[in-house]
Amino acid sequence: MSVLADEDLPFDVKMLDRLAEVSIRVGLNLQEGQDLIITGPVEALPLVRRLSAEAYRNGAGIVTAMLSDDELALTRYQYASDESLDSAPEWMFKAMGDAFDNNTARLAISASNPLLLSEQDPARVARAAKSMSLAAKPAMERITNFNTNWNVLAYPVLAWAKQVFPDKKDDEAVAALAEAIFSISRVDNEDPMTAWKVHQETLTERQNWLNEKDFYALHYTAPGTDLTIGLADGHEWKGGASLAKNGITCTPNIPTEEVFTTPHADRVEGVVRASKPLVLRGNVIEGIEVRFEGGKIVEAKADKGEEVFKQLIETDEGARKLGEVALVPHSSPISASGLLFYNTLYDENASCHIALGQCYSKCFKGDIGKDPEKIAEAGGNSSNIHVDWMIGSGEMDIDGISKDGTRTPVMRKGEWVY
Ligand code: ZN
Ligand code: ZN
Repeated sequence: MSVLADEDLPFDVKMLDRLAEVSIRVGLNLQEGQDLIITGPVEALPLVRRLSAEAYRNGAGIVTAMLSDDELALTRYQYASDESLDSAPEWMFKAMGDAFDNNTARLAISASNPLLLSEQDPARVARAAKSMSLAAKPAMERITNFNTNWNVLAYPVLAWAKQVFPDKKDDEAVAALAEAIFSISRVDNEDPMTAWKVHQETLTERQNWLNEKDFYALHYTAPGTDLTIGLADGHEWKGGASLAKNGITCTPNIPTEEVFTTPHADRVEGVVRASKPLVLRGNVIEGIEVRFEGGKIVEAKADKGEEVFKQLIETDEGARKLGEVALVPHSSPISASGLLFYNTLYDENASCHIALGQCYSKCFKGDIGKDPEKIAEAGGNSSNIHVDWMIGSGEMDIDGISKDGTRTPVMRKGEWVY
């Protein structure tokens, strides 16, 4: 199936126009004269073209699209020497870092075959991933530090659609994934811009409540989970739209259902079991169970893909500590769809999650987030990785614990209490 022309697409292309509008105007809130870098798979060209057009209609300077291809990426793992996996295109990430310093906005289309690398040697995959994340630092850092406005959204590519809908024919699988993406991204609505405004109001209400409570820790219980996560000193809850350091308020994820903040890297204790598989580096890791002591993972196992998970937490010192804690109600549109997307952008917005690795500097009050030393002092983690995994379910209870030990119910059976 070749689907780069509108007339060959097995879904209503009007939805792509709306998705582009939401991404450029709500997601990025692209400003007059701003340049834009778009990355995504070749297969997403029908969307990339629309994003570019919408960007220029909103006054963009230069739109640069960098397209990739899964099959092309695979050739490296198949034929490159082991030693060559230690190098990565540093020049490209440096250039992207420079562009972000010059107020360029960033748009990423997340849509790849979740199992692309599952047949490859995990050691080779980890080796390439490590050099890639090191090289990517100049670009990644500016995104995690929120120096510029950015947005990530999805597109229904065939290999991904077949993973979500293995029993459907190619066209039907793409159509079904497209329908899910459009509905969850709130563009199946006649007036997506208003739908996003209303949604943002709900997220703002939740983050305001949590910021007012200013909990010292959260206590999670569910089958296989009894976990206490301390929150960083001066942490601030965020959700949906927030202000980037270049002064532009953007909504980084489409979709987004989470409110999230920075945990204290040294105050995490207990056990936690993943509630959904984690797709990582082209592999699916199932049944993750870990134990934290003093903030660090001291025991880790998984039913499937255990080696890949263990390689991940060996990446660096901060890779076995938490950098994000996020609350999502079990009734979110994504978990209501009943689908497992094998894509973090979607699955993380289905359920409460935690992330190993780098924390978000924007999730701090006042000036803390501006100074790496102050972030570390407050308990913010640093690492070359940031990997979200899902722990929430309809069986999860969460209490907020105040500094004086008082408990406040936050969620019961996966739903907000307040
Ligand atoms: Zn998150
Ligand atoms: Zn995250």
